[in-house]
Amino acid sequence: MATMYGWTGVMLRVNLTTGETQPVLTAELAERFVGGRGFISKIYWDEVDTNTAALHPDSPLMFMTGPLAGTSAIAGSRWFIAGKSPLLYPEQFGLGSVGGSFGVKLKAAGYDGLIITGKAAKPVYIYLNDGKLELRDAAGLWGLDTFATLERLHKAHGDASTAVCIGPAGEKLVRLALAMSDHGACGGSGFGAVMGSKNLKAVVAAGAQKVSVARPDDLKAVNSQIRSLIEGKILMDPNVEGLELIKRTPCPGCPSGCPRGLYKHVSGREEVRKNCQSVYMYYLWDMKYHGESTADPFLATSLANRYGLCTQELGNLLYFLEACVRQGIITDESAGISLSQMGSLEFIERLTDMIISRKGIGEALAEGTMRAGHIVGNGAEKLLEKRMTRSGFNAEAYNPRYFITNALFYATESTSTMNQLHEVCFPVMKWVMWYATDGAMAPFSTEVMLKIAKKFWRNEKAVDFSTYEGKAAVATLIQNREYAKENLVACDFFYPLTTADGPEDHTGDPTLESRLLTAVTGIECDEASYYKTGERVFNLQRAIQGKEGRAGRKDDRVNEFYFTDKMEEEAGFLGVFNPDFMLPGPNGELISRKGAVLERDRFEKMLDEYYAIRGWDVKTGLQKRKTLEELKLADMIPGMQKLGLVAE
Ligand code: SF4
Repeated sequence: MATMYGWTGVMLRVNLTTGETQPVLTAELAERFVGGRGFISKIYWDEVDTNTAALHPDSPLMFMTGPLAGTSAIAGSRWFIAGKSPLLYPEQFGLGSVGGSFGVKLKAAGYDGLIITGKAAKPVYIYLNDGKLELRDAAGLWGLDTFATLERLHKAHGDASTAVCIGPAGEKLVRLALAMSDHGACGGSGFGAVMGSKNLKAVVAAGAQKVSVARPDDLKAVNSQIRSLIEGKILMDPNVEGLELIKRTPCPGCPSGCPRGLYKHVSGREEVRKNCQSVYMYYLWDMKYHGESTADPFLATSLANRYGLCTQELGNLLYFLEACVRQGIITDESAGISLSQMGSLEFIERLTDMIISRKGIGEALAEGTMRAGHIVGNGAEKLLEKRMTRSGFNAEAYNPRYFITNALFYATESTSTMNQLHEVCFPVMKWVMWYATDGAMAPFSTEVMLKIAKKFWRNEKAVDFSTYEGKAAVATLIQNREYAKENLVACDFFYPLTTADGPEDHTGDPTLESRLLTAVTGIECDEASYYKTGERVFNLQRAIQGKEGRAGRKDDRVNEFYFTDKMEEEAGFLGVFNPDFMLPGPNGELISRKGAVLERDRFEKMLDEYYAIRGWDVKTGLQKRKTLEELKLADMIPGMQKLGLVAE
């Protein structure tokens, strides 16, 4: 086999029912779909039957890397766990982005990805080492929590190995179960339950295979530019009394771009902590209960990690419970737990135990928030309309009443919109730090924001937060760039590098990712053609959505409360540091979004513009044949036509 730069060249299919394996050549997919999300989406489109349940043995579970993993490309070592999600509502295509070193080790073991089907007769784990696969007995691991499992596997297979495993939540098919790997790296959307449904406790990867890089000098040059751009970066560690940083635990090849690390709790316990939603999962409840913030949320997150429960979904369940209690839909008696204790450590210990063992209210909660709403009934499902999107994500995150562009992400995306929202809101959060501290804590002024808008979004209107003008073009560009990034599986916390601490103008460089791709794979790719790869996979995902029953304009909807309820407060960082929702407006003048709603007619007009830019039919929102052909997706047209998904 000819050397394939950026890849080992082989993915592996494994059938756990029969034990059979079959190699798949990576080259068959790489040219059109790049890697990561692109590969997963193509395999899903080709192979997943809409009638196959997520937890059925035939439902494929994919572990997929991108071309950067295993090379020295900065922040390029992440990977995806993917397939049909048992957590999304209804069950549909989903994926979870995972950090840590497993993706790098998978390639060192000789594989770019795994496609796992079937169900083992008894608990097993997959051991991959230097191009060989073994199914090993996992009877001694079944029942252990995630951290204990990882420790045992590490002892058994040594420092050169990395494992990803499930805890009791995955074994018991709890729909919010996740897969856990080293240093707290985890992937959600319920794929821990999919592993459990296959009797698959863990996958261990070890080996010494190297990934070849096409242009090592170019890669060094891009890496060194990235280092200079982030020089002087201040990591905003969530500062909590009673927690001490022991050491940072960055993913391989990352110059510690985020505060991921090992921390010690005042009780002496050491656990991994990241700088994402997981840190804040219990924060609000802890504040309410104790009247001040304590270090308990750190332990609550660790507890969820040990069980293998997704903290994002656990956060949604807590909101749901509180809303039900407020409306008198759930009482202590009906729930089987004292709800007034919400916020205490004892409460979260008991609640997680009830979810795992499906006792009391835990039986409904183990099905995830959206399904729990229907199971509890008595109007509980209606309460979710103000909190959750149709597929089951938090609808309040960076919501469109505050940031108009985000309405298009919420309307058109069925998987997590988080990285798209981040691209708009990460720079704004830094601007808020500049605004709230008169420039003392961050240099990202309105002037810097205007430069970023020109450079990254090709339009200064992108940072005029008062208008709908230009937002459809900005949203399209962001989605294409974010999908291209997910094909590379480059870190969302790191890329795109919009704000830069090093240079004088404090703006980053939008060409970095395309240059990394070219340096690693040797494929000629400029910024525009890189975004094209994202556009291709975005269109592929649109077809998957259509196949799974969410087709065109009639389904490109946002939550009704964006149109009707004025934006008055925000619980997160933006609300605390910017309670008046001040933002740059026309020509950089400041405006306030306090009291704003999304305007229905302008939203519909923005959607018209968006479809036109995408080359889709404006009336129906369906994809046009010509657009699919131009994106080299012509082979999908016959299948899409059968489902009525193509506008001629
Ligand atoms: S920024 Fe954080 S999550 Fe991203 S690659 Fe670096 S260490 Fe990993």
